[in-house]
Amino acid sequence: MSSDGPTLGDESYASARRGGHGHTHGHGHTHTHSHGGGPAHSHPLTPGQEAHAHGRRGATDHDHDDRPPAGGGHDFALPDLPPAVDVFDTTLRDGSQQEGLSLTVDDKLRVAEQLDHLGVTFIEGGWPGANPKDAEFFARAPKELDLSHATLVAFGSTRRAGVRAEDDETLRHLVEAQTGAVCIVAKSSEVHVVDALRTTLDEAVAMVTDSVEFLRANDLRVFLDAEHFFDGYKANPEFTLRILQAAEEAGAETLVLCDTNGGTLPFEVERIVSHVLDRFETQVGVHFHNDSGCAVANSLAGVTVGATHVQGCVNGYGERAGNADLAAVVPDLSLKLRVATIPADRLPLLTPVSHHIAELVNIAPNPQQPFVGASVFAHKAGLHTSAIARRSDAYEHVSPDLVGNGTRFVVSEMAGRSTLAMKAAELGLELDSDAMTSVLDSLKTLEYEGYHFEVADGSLELLLRNSTGWRQDFFTLESYRVIADQGDELSTEATVKVRVGDERIVATAEGNGPVNALDGALRSAIGSRYPSLEGVHLVDYRVRVLDSAKGTGSVTRVLIDSTDGDRTWTTIGVSENIIAASWQALSDSVVYGLLHTGGAGA
Ligand SMILES: [Zn+2]
Repeated sequence: MSSDGPTLGDESYASARRGGHGHTHGHGHTHTHSHGGGPAHSHPLTPGQEAHAHGRRGATDHDHDDRPPAGGGHDFALPDLPPAVDVFDTTLRDGSQQEGLSLTVDDKLRVAEQLDHLGVTFIEGGWPGANPKDAEFFARAPKELDLSHATLVAFGSTRRAGVRAEDDETLRHLVEAQTGAVCIVAKSSEVHVVDALRTTLDEAVAMVTDSVEFLRANDLRVFLDAEHFFDGYKANPEFTLRILQAAEEAGAETLVLCDTNGGTLPFEVERIVSHVLDRFETQVGVHFHNDSGCAVANSLAGVTVGATHVQGCVNGYGERAGNADLAAVVPDLSLKLRVATIPADRLPLLTPVSHHIAELVNIAPNPQQPFVGASVFAHKAGLHTSAIARRSDAYEHVSPDLVGNGTRFVVSEMAGRSTLAMKAAELGLELDSDAMTSVLDSLKTLEYEGYHFEVADGSLELLLRNSTGWRQDFFTLESYRVIADQGDELSTEATVKVRVGDERIVATAEGNGPVNALDGALRSAIGSRYPSLEGVHLVDYRVRVLDSAKGTGSVTRVLIDSTDGDRTWTTIGVSENIIAASWQALSDSVVYGLLHTGGAGA
């Protein structure tokens, strides 16, 4: 490896943290960082971390070098970094504060399973004293959660002001949660102690000491979340440091600096976290909210100066602008800064786990979410796609495979031959030159009529297959009919007449609307011949009325999203008649589903 490769092992990092050390920054100069002549210190690694650190060395010879080339006399060597960090996911506690996000206990158990599968170090399960749901979660977790990698953590707060630790309800609930590790929040900003807690700074410090000592006496590992730390530090650093000192002296394992309001910027993080690391021997962690859009950047800034514990949520869930998105923090650290996070061999689980969790919390995944979004490795038309065919790293900052995502070619009427050829190759189809010409012609015509294949991958695939001479033979439509009847109540009924092989089938179904009724009738007609159809469901139906901008008069565009639980696909229909447009999209959806779920039968 050249000099810009990772050079630090645990030992050299630990020795760098002892005493003043020089480290190289981006622009080739060196500066020295004083540790104030404090005693030798290093960050103890958990057993899981040691395993990561080994995996990480194996991962240094990537085939995809994602760093910019050195040039112009600049040196892009990585700064002096810790070899590994603990990844602490708080989706089940802080993330659940997101508006519209509500999890049952079963959902929480399934999210925890996914996080363990991904290989995070810690899973914060909730606040056992705060509500019955979290109490039930911690009661069921030991029996129903078989964690292979992660440690479950219960969340709470320090004792209340003026109450003895052994008499405090919250602390009792934490002990009863039986997790082995707990995270407690402490007010570390003077203004919050005075205004919110309405107590003295000395009592706030005593609350930390007593609570940590009590939990340690109950054999618990203790993480201390120092709430409003960054704002508090800016206003009264002496007090915020007293809080950390109390936690350290009482035996806390990690001092977690929280940006509770989310307004801190990366340069402030670097300075403040450095100051803290200069003063304390205990492991330092960071917890950022995204109100200034900097939660991921701040997390990285914290690690680049020496924090070795990072809190956040997969997909960045959380109240207001959310928490740091671990689906970005993890690959940034692992792939770019070469700091071990989750086990290296689990990185490709990032995209599937992110999407699975999105489904469990019932929030549609953001297609533009870095690393894991459906659009973030999608390339559209023209120069771009021909270039990417030659060099995959020309327009991709990392290889999508590393995080379990994939390159996708988006095809529209703007597509050139190269885009189409790559799309066909992605689907495993061979298009000869005539087929290619015919698809390009149909694309142009159909898009002019109002189709939009860029968002309808399912219909596009069928169009490409048709150009090779393929015709679906699952069923042939003879006719369909939909009746909406306003009697005592409004009812909708659809009749579908199809042929499957030699057999003519007529089926009728009722539905809560025309599409639902048509879907029911088609399934009832062919379902017994194609049992795999039972696993295929429509998940979304969107209608848009297109105006005459394209010179076609007013037409309706229908998009249907379907899933077989594994993959999802979108199909499209366009017509002046909404029922006809819906039928096209529905019929494509079913054909696509049969094609990919091994719809053998007819
Ligand atoms: Zn928070």
